[in-house]
Amino acid sequence: MKTLLVSFLVITGLALNAQNDKYQFHLDINMISNDLIQIELNTPNIKSDKIVYNMPKIVPGTYSIYDFGQYVMDFEAFDKDGRPLSVSRLDENRWEIENATTLTKVSYWVEDTWDAEVDELVFEPGGTNIEKGANVILNNHGFFGYFDGMKRLGYEVNVTRPENFYGTTGLTSVSTKGNVDQFTTENYMDLVDAPIMYNVPDTLTFNIGGAEILISVYSKNKVATAKELGKDIKKILELQSDYLGGKLPIDKYAFIIYLYEGQSGSGGSGALEHSYSSLYYLPEMSADKLSDFVVRVAAHEFFHIVTPLNIHAEEIGDFDYINPKMSKHLWMYEGVTEYFAEHVQVYGGMQSPKEYLGVIEEKLTGAKMFKDDLSFTEMSLGCLDEHKSQYGNVYQKGALIGLCLDVLLRDNSEGEIGLKDMMEMLSKEYGKYKSFKDEELFEKITALSSPEIGAFFKHYVEGASPLPLEELLGRVGITFKKDVKVQEITLGGIGLSYNPETKHLFIAGISEMNDFGNSMGYKVNDEIISINGEVLDIQNVQEQLDDYKQNVKEGEKVTVVIARERKGKVKNKTLKGKAFLVEKQKNYLIEFNEKATKEQIQIRNAWLGQK
Ligand SMILES: [Zn+2]
Repeated sequence: MKTLLVSFLVITGLALNAQNDKYQFHLDINMISNDLIQIELNTPNIKSDKIVYNMPKIVPGTYSIYDFGQYVMDFEAFDKDGRPLSVSRLDENRWEIENATTLTKVSYWVEDTWDAEVDELVFEPGGTNIEKGANVILNNHGFFGYFDGMKRLGYEVNVTRPENFYGTTGLTSVSTKGNVDQFTTENYMDLVDAPIMYNVPDTLTFNIGGAEILISVYSKNKVATAKELGKDIKKILELQSDYLGGKLPIDKYAFIIYLYEGQSGSGGSGALEHSYSSLYYLPEMSADKLSDFVVRVAAHEFFHIVTPLNIHAEEIGDFDYINPKMSKHLWMYEGVTEYFAEHVQVYGGMQSPKEYLGVIEEKLTGAKMFKDDLSFTEMSLGCLDEHKSQYGNVYQKGALIGLCLDVLLRDNSEGEIGLKDMMEMLSKEYGKYKSFKDEELFEKITALSSPEIGAFFKHYVEGASPLPLEELLGRVGITFKKDVKVQEITLGGIGLSYNPETKHLFIAGISEMNDFGNSMGYKVNDEIISINGEVLDIQNVQEQLDDYKQNVKEGEKVTVVIARERKGKVKNKTLKGKAFLVEKQKNYLIEFNEKATKEQIQIRNAWLGQK
């Protein structure tokens, strides 16, 4: 019986070999030498005399040219008898193989991007990491390529790993035999869309909206854990799931989090989104310090499951890794995503409407750093080259475009339909496998809503007019003012810094100290213990200081307890004074209009999710 089975397998194996129609990659992450990993590929059958093997020049979501081929070396091609075939390197990312009909195997070595010596380091969430015995990040576009015209064949990646390692991924098509994990995808796009992180696991899983959520954390010094970070991510995901109607359009999603020690290599930190996962590169800090940032970034990345995953142009649906063409709709992929990530917090009750007005002010101030007279669709088309420096505005003005659309849609529908409903309609119209034509999207949205939305796109997204925020916010009973002077209760004009040893804020500078500060008698290095009886807690000190500024009235008594060093001894001392108002210049002032009409308030409440 056994013998029979074996011979049957051999025959089937031969038959498969005779018409191999997929890519089969093998790598062993135990065998790392000089920071390099060897990749072996059993190639699919090639029908032409010559064939070009490509590594991506650029990958979706990064909007930067990275040339992943530059990290590949010792590229070799072989026929079935192991005889080398002639290979010429066409450029950074492409290798041409001769006698390709006889090709059966390709082999090369890959160096990771994270510590490479290059002019522009790859933003880490889109790069690759090889740390022998500790962590390997397979952002698959950095390790695996494709032959011309053959991106749509199946992929099989076989990874031999240390026994105690686990590979975190958003893929569900994974099988394991001994120390070998096998990942399969239907095509190259799906492989690139699914990074894998290998290390000794620290994971947490839970279910939300019908999806299995996997949190995986690599923290070399065990400063933060999956359990701790997962707790905060879970809270925001629950809000996001409700926001999207309670059922998520995915079965599994992985948060792959790498916490780096010391300085960031590229100088940045953040994340890159994929359909079923997102990969985070964040400083190694305790979970309570990281929490706010993680929640904000996770909310943004996770909302990408709406767009571009389920609503995207052909330029994205059939991504060209070598000659990328940009879509003109970054206002939607990044802008609406960022808008949702902020808006869900007020809509779900995690933030007050007043706090949300502060978020709008921040976005406006952020957008001031960029050109306001550049068409957003033009910027989007040129974001790799001509308008590269303006790309960051997608998170600022892009989010404000989302806000304007949401207000307009609510206003046009007596509060019934918002931007999230519009996006749901679009995802039903298109979806993961159906791309829209770049030119047709505005018409489609206009047809689903109203001519006023079409006019908005024409003037403010394709056109270069500044957004009509004063008018639109006015419709929901919110006033918009620019360059205003406001009166504000002062802390004394002192420069504050943080002492991690005592966990207190201390006075680092008094060069701009005002009359109030002088009357209190602050000195440099005084540590602030409490203000008006409230002990400062570094976790929410910003809130405490904001509360003080908002609630204390001019002329009221103020007491501040400080710790001051004298003759080598530190003693607490109570300073007393009377609260002062000072004039402050603000770029933008967004406030609720006390004279708002009932209708305006009704639409505003629908927009901000207030009952
Ligand atoms: Zn994004």
